[in-house]
Amino acid sequence: MKKITIAIDGFSSCGKSTMAKDLAREIGYIYVDTGAMYRSVTLYALRHHLFNADGTVREQELRRQMEHIRISFCMNRETGRPDTYLNGESAIRTMEVSSHVSPVAALAFVREALVGQQQRMGAEKGIVMDGRDIGTVVFPHAELKVFVTASAEVRARRRYDELKAKGMEADFNEILRNVQERDYIDSHRATSPLRKADDAVELDNSNLTIAQQKQWLLAQYRRAAE
Ligand code: C5P
Repeated sequence: MKKITIAIDGFSSCGKSTMAKDLAREIGYIYVDTGAMYRSVTLYALRHHLFNADGTVREQELRRQMEHIRISFCMNRETGRPDTYLNGESAIRTMEVSSHVSPVAALAFVREALVGQQQRMGAEKGIVMDGRDIGTVVFPHAELKVFVTASAEVRARRRYDELKAKGMEADFNEILRNVQERDYIDSHRATSPLRKADDAVELDNSNLTIAQQKQWLLAQYRRAAE
């Protein structure tokens, strides 16, 4: 099997990360969650008061401070999956970050910095990366591109269950609104909007179990890497 690049894109909370992580572990590839990188920049902006009262970003300040933002990945021995750290801190999966991330991810200078880092991480191939623009912008020549979809309700339910399982506060309707709002902003922004690459294979996983999805993805990988 040849070493390839695998790009997994799709809407928020559609299970991209779970499937990407599992595949990477199974085939011994590096896994990179690019959403976690945009969340880390957002957490930094929250911590440093870089949002205006109306939720817009204080762009000039953030641009000036980008060089202080260090994103790193570290294997979590308990889950067997990598955690993402912002300057040593790991707290990016909160509702507060989710509701501020889209305007940050829409900034061209933020995308430029993170896309550069992502391309360097994938320079040697043997990588599974998930996000919104991996097959279109980060690795347009990836040998395997998957575009994942699921209904907004199914996705909100999954995120709700995930937060509850971690013992965190969660309100289903608030999560559903957040999922729909992010879908809209992510697919309508000027820089790298979320869209399916022409050569991506589409997977609607609304009615698939994790095991079925895994089998499907492994088959796609074998086809692309042989
Ligand atoms: O994947 P996740 O939901 O954690 O991503 C958080 C947010 O980061 C998305 O809603 C999107 O605005 C942004 N994002 C992006 N490009 C990526 C990955 C994530 O714009 N490649």
